[in-house]
Amino acid sequence: MAGVAGVLCAAAGGASCGGGTPTAAGADLIIVNARVWTVDPSDPEAEAVAVSGDRIAAVGPRADVDRLRGPKTRVIDGAGRVLLPGFNDSHIHLMTGGAQLDSVDLKDAATPAEFARRIGERARATNAGEWVLGGNWDEQAWPGAPLPTKAMVDSVTPDTPVFVNRYDEHMSLANTVALRLAGVSAKTPDPLGGLIVRDARGNPTGILKDAAQAYVYKVIPSPSREQRVRTLKRALGHMASLGVTSVQDMGTDPDDVAIYGELAARGELTARIRVVPLEVGLAEALAAGPVRHQALPFLRVSGAKGFADGSLGSTTAFFFEPYTDAPSSRGLLADEMQPLDRMRSRLAAIDKAGEQLCIHAIGDRAISMVLDLFADVARANGLRDRRSRIEHSQHVAPADFDRYARLGVIASVQPYHAIDDGKWAEKRIGSARARTTYAFRSFLDHGVRLAFGSDWPVAPLDPVQGLYAAVTRATLDGKRPDGWVPEQKVTVAEAIEAYTAGPAFAEFQEASKGTITPGKLADLVLLSADPFTVPPGMLRELRADLTICGGRVVFERR
Ligand SMILES: [Zn+2]
Repeated sequence: MAGVAGVLCAAAGGASCGGGTPTAAGADLIIVNARVWTVDPSDPEAEAVAVSGDRIAAVGPRADVDRLRGPKTRVIDGAGRVLLPGFNDSHIHLMTGGAQLDSVDLKDAATPAEFARRIGERARATNAGEWVLGGNWDEQAWPGAPLPTKAMVDSVTPDTPVFVNRYDEHMSLANTVALRLAGVSAKTPDPLGGLIVRDARGNPTGILKDAAQAYVYKVIPSPSREQRVRTLKRALGHMASLGVTSVQDMGTDPDDVAIYGELAARGELTARIRVVPLEVGLAEALAAGPVRHQALPFLRVSGAKGFADGSLGSTTAFFFEPYTDAPSSRGLLADEMQPLDRMRSRLAAIDKAGEQLCIHAIGDRAISMVLDLFADVARANGLRDRRSRIEHSQHVAPADFDRYARLGVIASVQPYHAIDDGKWAEKRIGSARARTTYAFRSFLDHGVRLAFGSDWPVAPLDPVQGLYAAVTRATLDGKRPDGWVPEQKVTVAEAIEAYTAGPAFAEFQEASKGTITPGKLADLVLLSADPFTVPPGMLRELRADLTICGGRVVFERR
């Protein structure tokens, strides 16, 4: 952590801030003729907004805002569209997401020929020494469903190592270059828990199953500085195009934080990044010296991310009762939680240092245990505005909503998972537990603060997908068009609040972000249509037409 702190402090000098008060020359930017939805309950709607420097200078009727127009003011016609505070995604994995944008996409390659063509095309665009990775191929979609082989791709990838995974990640295809680098040959034994698929003569076909994939994974070089910069820029471009002006990056690799710091210092970040480091090791780092970093307008490191259990999809979310479809299992408690005393003392130490706790918990029992830990920490360290968070907060025991409220715990949730998992979740947990699953309505009714996010790249980064999911709860398979557990739906206004002001509160930044209020940072998004008037089923068709971050236009749809 010490290295990271150094980078950030060095970066502070290069960052600029300020503004908000227009000079005689007028505001820098005025947006008129918009439906401004401020998310500020004291003044919810307006027609126009003026921006000066990186701050909002005025919000109000057009006539008032027009007074700030000067000779150099850029005027944007909102054309009746809706202007919102920029979206703040409470839970993403930034560089994994960026890497996915940068990797070959084979999901919808419908034939082996198309599969090979895309890999070849990517290989030609790849720098010497870099790998072609990613893929998410699905041979079941191909005629006859043959497994791919290295022979399909070798001729188009003579010098480039290729290692592309099946969508379930249980097997991957290596080309000849990759197998050579990994030292995998006819003589290589199958590892425990893995399989090297071989042809009739015993030679590897390129398919490595489960543990056998490790032969190749361990020779893939970690990305170079240049690759990381490229990945970050791809991710930033994607965020801007979706109106995302702030993200909270969970469990960031310290090497990546250094790259964020470089771009922050050069003024090249087009979205604000809050880094939440992993809790494991953080208590020691805190004991060794101060790790709280100078807050920059575009980059902050704060809080601690930990894990209490696994996921519903892999039946490792930890429940009180057994899985409906796996009666011998209640899931698994994360190793970080064992022994529990150690977890408790680590969290107490981190909390004592003033850091916010953000703990991943999905199953009802894991969530209950984390609430117990939060209560213990509060008892040990005394009353404070700590805003502890439970990341995912998926399956909540009915009695625990009150405990969230009493302890002031924030539910950091990803609505898209509800319409994705909703296709099959009930088979796994039964209908009783499903009633308090992705229970956004119950949280609000109990006075619990929601912070929406995507968990990108596990789900799409696009916030309008999240709004659609939270408002309709219509599962992705189209089988529940009126909503899965419809009583847990929230309104459009509540969903927008949970994607703007909610996340700002969840990162202690509500004084400068989350609403369109004079003096706050000018982070704004102009949507292509009105989320309050389109049919709910159309919410996911909305687009960001214009994204402004810190007063700067960072995206404009042409
Ligand atoms: Zn995550």
